[in-house]
Formats: sequence, C-alpha cells, structure tokens
Amino acid sequence: MPSQGKLYIVGIGPGCKELMTVKAKKAIESSDYVIGHKRYVDFVRDLVKGKIIVSGMGKEVERVRLAVELARNNIVSLVSGGDPNIYGIAPLVVEYIQSNNISVDYEVIPGVSALNSASPLLGSPISGDHAVISLSDLLVPWETIEKRLRKALEGDFVIAIYNPSSKKRKGNLEKAMKIVMEYKGDTFVGVVKNACRDGEEVRIMRCSEVIDSNFVDMSTIIFVPNSETIIKNGIMLTPRGYSRKYEV
Ligand code: SAH
Repeated sequence: MPSQGKLYIVGIGPGCKELMTVKAKKAIESSDYVIGHKRYVDFVRDLVKGKIIVSGMGKEVERVRLAVELARNNIVSLVSGGDPNIYGIAPLVVEYIQSNNISVDYEVIPGVSALNSASPLLGSPISGDHAVISLSDLLVPWETIEKRLRKALEGDFVIAIYNPSSKKRKGNLEKAMKIVMEYKGDTFVGVVKNACRDGEEVRIMRCSEVIDSNFVDMSTIIFVPNSETIIKNGIMLTPRGYSRKYEV
C-alpha cells in the first residue's frame, strides 16, 4: 500500500538562520516528527511543532530506518547540515528506499553547503571548474581519496576539502597537504572555520602551516587554489577568464 505520509530530507544550511531556505523552514514547521543529530535538531528546535527525535553520531542507518517507517503515516523531516546531498544523509535514504523497494513519498530539500557559505568569505576562490574531496576515510578507503586528490591536482581544479581533520584522523590532513605540496610547492590555501556561524574564522595559510598548527578541525573547510588563483591582501580569487576577452 502506498504511504500516506511524507519524508523530507532537509538541508538546514551552514548554521545561521538567514541561510536556511524558506522551503526547509516550511518542511520542518509542517512535520509531525523532526529527526536528526543533536546539533542540527537543536538548531531548528524553535521551528518544530511536532515531536523531536535525537539520533546519535554513527547511527545513520537506524535513523533512516526510523524516519522511513514513521513517514508511512506521518510528515517527517530528517535534518542534515549544509546540503543533504553533499556528505549528508540523502544518499543513504535513497539507497535504503531503493534497496528495500520501499514505497514512500520523499523529497530532498537542498541546503547551502559549506562550500557555498565559506567561499565568499575568502573572495571568490571557486569561480569555475572545481573538485570537492572529503578526507574522511570512515566510508571511503584512503587509497581512493588519495587517487582522487592527485587527479584533481593533475587536472588543475580548485579543490574544496571537506572533513579535513578530526581527533581520530589527524594524519589524513598532513598526508593531503604533503600531496598538495608535491604538485604546488608550499602554496597558500584558504581556510574557513565555522563559516556563517558562531566562531567564524577565515585565514590564508601555507600548507606547511596547516600541518604545523592545530587550527584546522572538523568544522573547517580548505580551498586549494588552481594555477590561475590569485591570493593577495587576504583575498583569494580565481578569475573566470573575462580578462582574456574583455578589459576588466
Ligand atoms: N552536508 C554538509 C557537509 C557535511 S560533512 C554540507 O553540505 O556542508 C562535514 C564537513 O563539512 C566538516 O568537516 C567541514 O569540513 C564542512 N563544514 C560543514 N559546515 C561548515 C561550516 N559552517 N564551516 C566550515 N566548514 C563546514
């Protein structure tokens, strides 16, 4: 029997209310249940009219199973930080529904990802072709991450690095910075911690400084420049190429 309820997979943005979409807000307000990690649920608590279910880190599969079950007869919002498609809960929901042939009405509501909220704080580092790489090897083997990082460097992409470091994975950041240095020398990178939320900090640092300091943590995103990126007066800019055609 088709479900009577609905499951929203809601991206809540980087952590300030202004960067949450109107659609995300409406979905949460209309929900009988709001489910998510404590940090995200706390952030939207004032919007919730239904019940709140807090689910722990590492309990993603259980969280999804519960949300899908409840969504058979209820409106449910599964909340995820930034955009739910990017290192978020959306792919797991779609995989779970597909693998188990579940008939449930669901909708993924996009959110402003860390990449979008952090890059303007540096100027305009992305601008065109770019790659997005996570250094977390919890679900992806390090060999794959390293291969993708090397290919992105060979391809001269601007690279946004998610999940650069955590207490358990400090070594991955050092390995990644050393790989960047193989291709680019001890280049400057853009580093943004807590973009658009309390504790926001923006720095331009050399790769070696990133390794030596303890500045980068799991609330940080790093932008690796491409060969055209200009870093000057604290601004990181990758020109789109207008000056090849026009006088800028
Ligand atoms: N779905 C999220 C990403 C989750 S992975 C999104 O679209 O943004 C978690 C990683 O995202 C963190 O380790 C960090 O690298 C990055 N991140 C999330 N929010 C951030 C913020 N406000 N400032 C800087 N980096 C952030």
